[in-house]
Amino acid sequence: MGTVEKAGKPAGGPGRGRTRRAVLFGGLGVLAVAGAAGADEVRRLWWLLPGVSKPRKEGELDYAGAGWTAASPANWRLADRPDDYRVDRIVVHVTQGGFASSVGAFRNPWHKASAHYIVRQDGHVEQMVRELDVAFHAGNRSMNERSIGIEHVGYVERPRDFTDAMYASSARLAADICRRYGIPVDRRHIVAHSEVPGTDHTDPGPHWDWDRYLRLVRAEVAAKGPA
Ligand SMILES: [Zn+2]
Repeated sequence: MGTVEKAGKPAGGPGRGRTRRAVLFGGLGVLAVAGAAGADEVRRLWWLLPGVSKPRKEGELDYAGAGWTAASPANWRLADRPDDYRVDRIVVHVTQGGFASSVGAFRNPWHKASAHYIVRQDGHVEQMVRELDVAFHAGNRSMNERSIGIEHVGYVERPRDFTDAMYASSARLAADICRRYGIPVDRRHIVAHSEVPGTDHTDPGPHWDWDRYLRLVRAEVAAKGPA
C-alpha cells in the first residue's frame, strides 16, 4: 500500500507549496549556472527549472497494456523522470483492499499516497500516475523519486489473492519498465515495500513468490530482447 513521504516536507502537485519568489530565484539560480555551461548543459538544465515539464496529455500512458484513471495531483509530485531523477527501482506493493477502493483512495486528495500502477487478480493493469512523475508509494522520498510503484490488489495474509494472471501480467509490466529504463532484473532493483528503509509496511508479505515473479520478469525481458 502506498504511504505519504516521510522525509522532507510534504510535496503537492504542480506548483504547490512553492512561492512565486522561490520559483523566480530558483529559476535564476539555474540560469546563472547555465550561463557558465555549454549549450548541451543548458538543454539539460532547462528541465531543472521549477514548474517546467515535458509536454503531456491527460490520459497518456507509459505501458501499452494499461487502462488509465488519474490519481489526485495531491498524491504525487510533478517531475521529468528520467531526466531529473534516474529510475532504477521497482517497488512491489499489495493494496490491502479491493480494486475500486484502491483506485478511489488514489483519487482522493486526502489520501496522500498513490502508485503508478495497480494490477488486478484478472491481470488488468490500471495506470494512475505517469512514470515521469513521482508517486508517493514507498514512504521514503528518495525511493519514491527513483522508483516505479506497482500495487497488486489483495491482502498480504491471503495467498490466494496472488493469482497466476496477476503474476503474469505484473511480470510483463515490470519487464517493460526494466527494458525501458535499463533496470537489472534482480532483488536489489525490484524490491518489496517492506524492504524500503524507514517503512513500517509489510507488503507484499511472505506469500508473494519472489522466485516465481523474477523468473517471469526475466522470461519476458528475454522474449523481447534488449530495449
Ligand atoms: Zn505498499
